[in-house]
Amino acid sequence: MGQKKYDGIIIGAGIGGLMTGALLAREGLRILLIEKEDQPGGYVVSFKRGDYIFDATGVFLGGCKEGEEFYEILRRIGAHCMIEFLPIRPIQNIYPGFKITLGDGGFDSYAESLLALFPEEEKGLRSYLALVQKIGNEVKAYSEMTFHRKLLFPFYFPHLIRYHRTTHQCVLDRLFRAGEIKMALHSLPVTDPPSRLSFLFVATLISKALRGGVFYPKGGMGHISKAILHSFLQFGGEVLFRKRVEKIMIKERRAQGVWTEDGELFEAPLVISNVNPYLMVKMLPQELQTPFYRKIHRLEPSLSCFILYLATDLNLKEMGIPYFTYLRSCSNLEEEDRMLRRGELPQTPTISLSIPTLLDPSLAPPGHHLIKALLIAPYSYQGEWGKKDPANYYRIKEELMKKVISYLDSKWISGLKDRLLYKEAATPITLERYTGNQWGAMYGLSSTPQQMGRRRPPHHTPIPALFQVGHYTRPSHGIVGASLSALFATRQILKRWPSK
Ligand SMILES: Cc1cc2nc3c(=O)[nH]c(=O)nc-3n(C[C@H](O)[C@H](O)[C@H](O)COP(=O)(O)OP(=O)(O)OC[C@H]3O[C@@H](n4cnc5c(N)ncnc54)[C@H](O)[C@@H]3O)c2cc1C
Repeated sequence: MGQKKYDGIIIGAGIGGLMTGALLAREGLRILLIEKEDQPGGYVVSFKRGDYIFDATGVFLGGCKEGEEFYEILRRIGAHCMIEFLPIRPIQNIYPGFKITLGDGGFDSYAESLLALFPEEEKGLRSYLALVQKIGNEVKAYSEMTFHRKLLFPFYFPHLIRYHRTTHQCVLDRLFRAGEIKMALHSLPVTDPPSRLSFLFVATLISKALRGGVFYPKGGMGHISKAILHSFLQFGGEVLFRKRVEKIMIKERRAQGVWTEDGELFEAPLVISNVNPYLMVKMLPQELQTPFYRKIHRLEPSLSCFILYLATDLNLKEMGIPYFTYLRSCSNLEEEDRMLRRGELPQTPTISLSIPTLLDPSLAPPGHHLIKALLIAPYSYQGEWGKKDPANYYRIKEELMKKVISYLDSKWISGLKDRLLYKEAATPITLERYTGNQWGAMYGLSSTPQQMGRRRPPHHTPIPALFQVGHYTRPSHGIVGASLSALFATRQILKRWPSK
């Protein structure tokens, strides 16, 4: 039996759990973090294969400059000086029949790139970007909200109110005629098409990226998680790896601890879950599960993806390939989404390609490059990837891997097939197995208007002393979203468990 010596226990060391741990430990709370894998980060990990260091998932993140939100959260826990953020530029988006290269210069240069291709859409584009900027300003002010502003919410936040139910499609259809510009404006790190995606989310994402740029952490994505863990440990936090939480202990109607799979009990007057809510509910006593189920059955997880990890000795720098390329062959976003939701993959799927060795050559031996190719994919593809039969699972994965490599070779990286030094792939089943995300959901919940803002699950739960953080909760997905969820949850927790 564990001793009752912690102020709080966190289940899962994804970015949300790690950051909550560090923020609470900084305030003097004795926190125990329990993680089922052998390293911190959940989705945000790196893995080694021979001399290669691959990022499991992420490609870039924003808010990394001094004064911006991610940097300032890192500064709070003293981790800002442990990460060097490398700016990503340019970004290349390739569409059927045209391409856009995005460099520095924020809103103006973004507008210029688009106007060079779509001069007849100038009026709509200016209105679109002005709206994006206004919403970006309101979102920024919202996260620093004072009591005075709360009282006068409609006066200070008119666009957040006006657009809270609006999809990206509504705004695109109102402002633009050509399908091409609508497609170009929807080239975002999301798994939803314009008809489902919240416009407030789009505007927040675009305004942050255009204002502050996007970055890659030197040493790889896993370095972010390691830096946060380091801060957590410095503040006296404790972590247990390779331990799976099985049950949450509820006593006198409050969360009071957890049992791990090996039968150990850890007690604390506060429990914070960083695991997907469907898993969390199964950790509760049977009689408490019903009211949760009613709520979580209405939630819609995001789609998953198929990821290819490749190494080559082709000189990609000389070939003029940038760090990030968005490669789209199908122009009908809605049809592509319908296929994915039917469990099918488009013949020529949209691919996000990143080459971290162009920014940080230390991730591979000299002259070698790492390539990560990512395509949105459904969990239900070919009978859940044939997961019941290992041979079938392997065959499906190999076939898709071959197909994507041939496609990249013919379309974008000529000679790739013959100069491959390493290949490996992850399916939605892999993502689910390593992180426990529902059906391998990339981004926790979909960013539909129904799941944004106050309609996204809050951090407190109906059970006293049980909280949730991570990308199934407010405010949104992503490394920054999960970090903000930790910050918001910590504020609520510290109101009830004041710092020591
Ligand atoms: C392919 C891909 C690409 C992405 N690209 C980007 C990007 O470029 N930029 C960006 O900002 N975001 C990106 N994201 C999204 C981002 O990574 C996530 O939104 C974010 O990391 C989620 O963090 P989280 O705190 O919710 O935890 P998660 O990462 O979901 O981690 C949950 C943790 O809980 C642990 N756990 C589960 N069950 C148990 C249990 N029973 N006991 C103990 N521990 C348990 C898991 O092992 C895991 O460590 C990407 C995601 C994917 C999948």
